[in-house]
Amino acid sequence: MRYDLIVVGAGPAGSSAAYHAVRSGLSVLLVEKRQQVGLPVRCAEAVGHDGFAMELGGDGILFPDGPGGDLSEPYRAAHINGGITVSPGGNRASVKKEGAGWVLERKLFDLYLAERAAEAGAELWVKTQALDAERVGGEWRVRVRRLDREETVGAPVLIGADGVEGLVGRWAGLTGPLPLADVHSGAQVLAAGLPGWVEEETVYFFLGSNVAPGGYAWLFPKGRGLANVGLGIPAAGHPKPARGYLRDFLTDNFPEVSILEEVHGCVPTAPPPRGFVGEGCMLVGDAARQVDPFSGAGINWSLEAGRLAGETAAEVLLSGVEPTAKALTRYEKHWQARHRREHRQLYKFQTLVMSLTDGEVDQAVAALAAGVAKDELGEVSPLRIIGYALRGAPGLFLKLRHLL
Ligand SMILES: Cc1cc2nc3c(=O)[nH]c(=O)nc-3n(C[C@H](O)[C@H](O)[C@H](O)COP(=O)(O)OP(=O)(O)OC[C@H]3O[C@@H](n4cnc5c(N)ncnc54)[C@H](O)[C@@H]3O)c2cc1C
Repeated sequence: MRYDLIVVGAGPAGSSAAYHAVRSGLSVLLVEKRQQVGLPVRCAEAVGHDGFAMELGGDGILFPDGPGGDLSEPYRAAHINGGITVSPGGNRASVKKEGAGWVLERKLFDLYLAERAAEAGAELWVKTQALDAERVGGEWRVRVRRLDREETVGAPVLIGADGVEGLVGRWAGLTGPLPLADVHSGAQVLAAGLPGWVEEETVYFFLGSNVAPGGYAWLFPKGRGLANVGLGIPAAGHPKPARGYLRDFLTDNFPEVSILEEVHGCVPTAPPPRGFVGEGCMLVGDAARQVDPFSGAGINWSLEAGRLAGETAAEVLLSGVEPTAKALTRYEKHWQARHRREHRQLYKFQTLVMSLTDGEVDQAVAALAAGVAKDELGEVSPLRIIGYALRGAPGLFLKLRHLL
C-alpha cells in the first residue's frame, strides 16, 4: 500500500500526471471516485490545435501520422475550421481558420488517457474516493473508500487532480473553498437533429444578457447531426440557474432538436492561486484553477500541468531529494513562466467582456465582421480576435485601455 506517488482524480490532468510519472520510473496509484472514467462528460469538448498537438502529438494512437497529422477517430468527433459569433442584436462575425482544433469525443478520450497510464504501469482504482489526507513523517497518508471498504495508502508525493471541487488543495492547506464569484456554472446537452443552417466544422458562440448574461452559449457540431450545446454564466447573481437559461435558449433557437443527455458543471474562472505546490503536494488542472478564464477551456492546460507535475515528482524522488515544497516548486515556476501572463490577460478580458452592455457587444461583433470582410484581422488567435473586436468598436477602446 505504499507508492512513490498518489494521484487523486483520473481526468486529463491526473491521467497525464500518472502516465508521465510512471514512464519516468515511479510507482504510481491513480484513484478515481467515479465508477467509469470520463462519465459524465462535463465539457463542451473543444480543444485548440496547438496546445493539444504539443502535448499528445507524439502519441501513436491519438496521432497515428505524428504531431503534424490529424487526431484519430473515435477520439475526434469533428474538426474545427472556423467560428461564428452571434451578438444579441443578431450581428454575426464568421472567422475561418483551417485546422483550428477539434471537438473531442471526450468520454473516450478521458478513458484512453487513463488506460494509457495504466498500460504504462500505473495502478488505477476506480470507484475509489479519497476521503482525507495527512502528512506524517514526510509521507502522505491518504484514506480512501474503495468500493465499500476504507483503507489507507501512502506516498511521499500526492498530486491533487481532483477538479474544480477538489479537496486535496484544502488538505494540503493550499486552497480554500472557491468563492462563487470565481466560478462559472455551466449546463449542456447532447442534441440531435440540428437545423440545416448549422455548418459542420464550425463552432458557434451566442452572446447577450438574455442568452447567457456574463458568459456565452455554444453550439459545437460533433458530426452525424449531433452537437454539444450549452452555456456558462457566472455562478451567482442571476434570476435563473444556468440550466434555466439553456432551456430557454434551446426553445428559442433550436425547438426541433432532441436532447440525448443533459449535464451541469462548474468552471473556475479565478486567477490560479499563488502557490499550488506544498510539502510533498502539487495541484494540477482545475484543482489549481489552470483554466482559461475567458473561454473556460482547461483540457490543454490540464494535460500540460499533469505532465510537468508528473515529471517533477520523478526528477525529485529519483535524485534522492526530499519532496519538500521547495524541491517541487520547479513545477510551479515552469507553469507560471509559460502561462501566468496569458492567464492574467485573459482574466482581464473576461472582466471587460462581462462589463459590456448588449449594445456594446453588438458593436464589437459588427467591428469584427467588418475587419474579417476587409481581411484586416491578420493572424487568427483568440486573443487577437477579442482585441480586434474591442478596438474596432468606438467607445470600447477606453474601457479596454483602462483594464489592460
Ligand atoms: C460546462 C463545461 C464546459 C467545458 N468546456 C470545455 C471545452 O470545450 N474545452 C476545454 O478545454 N475545457 C472545457 N471545460 C473545462 C474542462 O472540462 C476542465 O478544465 C478539465 O476537465 C480539467 O481536467 P482535470 O483533470 O483538472 O479535472 P476533471 O476533468 O474535473 O477531473 C477530475 C477528476 O477527479 C475526480 N475526483 C474528484 N474528487 C475525487 C476524490 N476525492 N477522490 C477520487 N477522485 C476524485 C473526479 O471524479 C474527476 O474524474 C469545460 C468545463 C465545463 C464545466
